[in-house]
Amino acid sequence: ATPSAVLAAIGPAAKRGILIKSGKFLEVCKQITIFVFDKTGTLTSGEMKVTSVIPEKGHTEEEILTIAASAERSSPHPIAKSIREEARKRGIQIPQVGTARHIPGKGVEDIWNGMPILVGSREFLEERSVPLPKKPHSNQEPTHANETEVLVAQNNEYIGTLYISDTLHTDTREAVTSLKQIGVYKYALVTGDHTNVARSIAAELHIPDDMTFSGLLPQDKETYIARLQEQGEVVCFIGDGTNDGPALVRADLGVGIGSRANTLALESSGVILMEKGLSALPLFIRLGRKTSQTIA
Ligand code: ADP
Ligand code: MG
Repeated sequence: ATPSAVLAAIGPAAKRGILIKSGKFLEVCKQITIFVFDKTGTLTSGEMKVTSVIPEKGHTEEEILTIAASAERSSPHPIAKSIREEARKRGIQIPQVGTARHIPGKGVEDIWNGMPILVGSREFLEERSVPLPKKPHSNQEPTHANETEVLVAQNNEYIGTLYISDTLHTDTREAVTSLKQIGVYKYALVTGDHTNVARSIAAELHIPDDMTFSGLLPQDKETYIARLQEQGEVVCFIGDGTNDGPALVRADLGVGIGSRANTLALESSGVILMEKGLSALPLFIRLGRKTSQTIA
């Protein structure tokens, strides 16, 4: 694009909190054939909420929350925020020291009172050889089918589950509708979360099951995008930057959202939407298309 065409786009973009790293990201808008979305914190609000705490026999809700909140004390993940908030609401003191380690797309590990702690997905605990009841609390499952489960282990022993709800961000539906009006019709959802949660969120946006991929690690998201590119697709990936770095870098257009404080997203994305929610995305795509028309 001509420098003046790029400049013409940068003003209106900046007004809507859109940061553009280079003019080439405006030009690619015209070629995009598919939008691939991260779920947590991207399509959903990122304001997750703990709906219940289910301790294993011999443990209490307060104990599970204390251990989990302590392990999550420094994680920026929406799951971690929801656990800290629930602990705060119940008046639980979260210790501010320790050496918690974050494992992207899986969870956190910590030492608590000298005991090793794991907080994260079922796959994460299985991978660490924590014996799990086949279906913990199967009587509860229908109620929590569309919620994210976070399991807690202490000394390699399963001690409880937290269920966490996640809902579409208020802007998401309208943003996807207006992207369709621009004329791109392929959408996919990629998430580290489990199938039920992924499909229920996807269904609200009319993303079919066969374009919904769950249980993915950050590098799996990148691999999926690379495969689409091999098939000739030009991919726009939108993520909140928590665990999404590789996918943001791989995509033809990586869009980081709600990322005022997220330096990783700043490094990996071509474009940053500073406001929470996707409402600025269709505007950006429109601006980009106009820019490349100017040179055509
Ligand atoms: P998404 O791909 O939807 O953005 P993530 O890749 O961030 O989700 O996380 C995938 C899964 O890994 C979560 O659903 C959760 O089970 C687990 N997980 C990731 N980070 C954490 C954390 N800080 N605490 C607990 N569980 C986590
Ligand atoms: Mg995410």
